[in-house]
Amino acid sequence: MRSVPSLLTMLGDQEPPRNVMPPWHYVHLRRRAAGLSIAQAAKPFWIRPEHQHDVERHFRNLEAENIRYQRLYVTEGKPYFFSVEVYHQLANLPPHQHPHICVGCGWDEHSTQYDHNGDDATWSAEQPDICTRCEQGAAWNAHKAEEKARHAA
Ligand SMILES: [Zn+2]
Repeated sequence: MRSVPSLLTMLGDQEPPRNVMPPWHYVHLRRRAAGLSIAQAAKPFWIRPEHQHDVERHFRNLEAENIRYQRLYVTEGKPYFFSVEVYHQLANLPPHQHPHICVGCGWDEHSTQYDHNGDDATWSAEQPDICTRCEQGAAWNAHKAEEKARHAA
């Protein structure tokens, strides 16, 4: 699994909030978890070709550091890979009011996501910062790496 830089080092001696995730990182994690490129993510939101560039730029900017959007192109009811509500919570609320977000894929417990066994994702019992889907994915990758090392030996 990708390692996430420690927020503690950035916060100095302050009491570490449970899970500080900036909204741009949240969008990035959700897009990656959905396996979408920027162009693929933007596609449902433009019809006229002359709008393609602007919409794609908007999606790129959503993942740009230190930009918090108050208005998003995305509206309720459109099929999409992240929750607009969660985005606004991360952008506008103090950290102690943020929802608990998986640091691996950006899942929040109010969104439906299945794990690799087809069950509803929940929080990992051993690593409460990640969901069971990410936990299974990490275990699978570790298993693959082990096999590869065995074959190479
Ligand atoms: Zn996850």
